[in-house]
Amino acid sequence: LVSRKWRVQPTVLDLGDGVTIGEGSLAICAGPCSIESEAQMEKVMAHLLENDVRLMRGGVFKPRSSPYAFRGLGMEGLKVFHRMARERGIKIVTEVMQVSQVEEMHDYVDVFQVGARNTQNFNLLDALGGVDKPVLLKRGISGTIEELLSSAEYVFSGGNEKLILCERGIRTFETASRNTLDLNAVPILKAKSHLPVIVDPSHGIGIREFVPQMALAGVLAGADGIVYETHETPETAASDGAQTLDFDESARLIRNLRRVYQLR
Ligand code: PEP
Ligand code: MN
Repeated sequence: LVSRKWRVQPTVLDLGDGVTIGEGSLAICAGPCSIESEAQMEKVMAHLLENDVRLMRGGVFKPRSSPYAFRGLGMEGLKVFHRMARERGIKIVTEVMQVSQVEEMHDYVDVFQVGARNTQNFNLLDALGGVDKPVLLKRGISGTIEELLSSAEYVFSGGNEKLILCERGIRTFETASRNTLDLNAVPILKAKSHLPVIVDPSHGIGIREFVPQMALAGVLAGADGIVYETHETPETAASDGAQTLDFDESARLIRNLRRVYQLR
């Protein structure tokens, strides 16, 4: 069902209030790795609005390698995130980690993110197949393109056709970067599937100073959108600061993304 053979027309998701994801426009989604506080969200949202970006990412349930690392503000944080975003006309993308969260998060999210560690959590995918909100599905840490499409098929066949595929880098033998951003996946996914494809250069390379060029390369590779991490002071971010852009870098990237998109 997610194949181009089944549906030739590209799928374009309408999130309302003029925010769309899919062919015909470039979706830009930015925000911190983790939602940390009202003050932090206030600053990020102001930055996004100044740059005419109305899709914000930010995790409240964080999958961390260490149990001692910051694991997110949970539902309390999500409720504040949602209220502040609504007040400003911003749509939110946030990670759901387990089946039981789908229902409690439902009314407070615009897009459910499935993280790379959960791409093959088939129970979670089944649960998301039954909701009426878009799902941003990340490629698994060591997942093949075919496996990503199979995971998308779970959600789609469950009845939820609002899906976005995300290339976020895979684990390879290379240790010079956090992950290996597989830009090959972009044209391949676009050819194989009618679903929108976006690129996450932040997790893809994991090195702040190189995030912008990989984001731009993602657009040239044919992505329908880019999702990346930004924070007022990346040095103090609760998670992923080393791959997070400050607002100046972010504003420059947004300008360049739009320029490069025009060249396609
Ligand atoms: C994130 O988006 O902050 C995240 C945890 O991403 P991934 O699942 O791709 O590692
Ligand atoms: Mn992150």
